[in-house]
Amino acid sequence: MLPWVVRRTRLPLLSLRCVDCGSESATTGDGRFRVNANGKLLDVWLLVRCVSCDRTIKLTVHGRAPVSSFDPAELGGYHANDPELVASTLLDPLLARRNRFTLDWNGAWRLDTPSARLDEAWPVQVEVVFEDPVPVRPDWLIAQGLGLSRNEVLRRIKCDIPLRRTRIAGFTFILMTGD
Ligand SMILES: [Zn+2]
Repeated sequence: MLPWVVRRTRLPLLSLRCVDCGSESATTGDGRFRVNANGKLLDVWLLVRCVSCDRTIKLTVHGRAPVSSFDPAELGGYHANDPELVASTLLDPLLARRNRFTLDWNGAWRLDTPSARLDEAWPVQVEVVFEDPVPVRPDWLIAQGLGLSRNEVLRRIKCDIPLRRTRIAGFTFILMTGD
């Protein structure tokens, strides 16, 4: 079975309307958190910037949460602006829902395929693994990975998931010979 891997090359931008300039794109930049203590309660924000006017936008990660509810390592990560914690926080669908933005994955990911050796035994089975939750349409991804037209993909691929529906999780498919 051939492995294909979908992985991000950088953090995606955020589609988020800026109240100052009306731009709809923001970036995490280097990735910064702000932690504010109020007695035994903590607020944690992820700070992002409008790509047009540089305005800082605060995204609520935790609102008025008891200090005791935090794992010390997690809290340390917020204080240190740990890049992995920035990434996992940004990619958590809960953050997007709570702060009303969507992720813009354009140009922020790639598909890695092993150098194709399709001359081996037919049919060829491929497993697609998602290292990051990049939303892609399987028919588009397979067409790109194999250098086929989308019509040819629909004709030659056997797969038990809907090929035209965007997904963010792994799947396998079988490529039938072209004749
Ligand atoms: Zn702006």
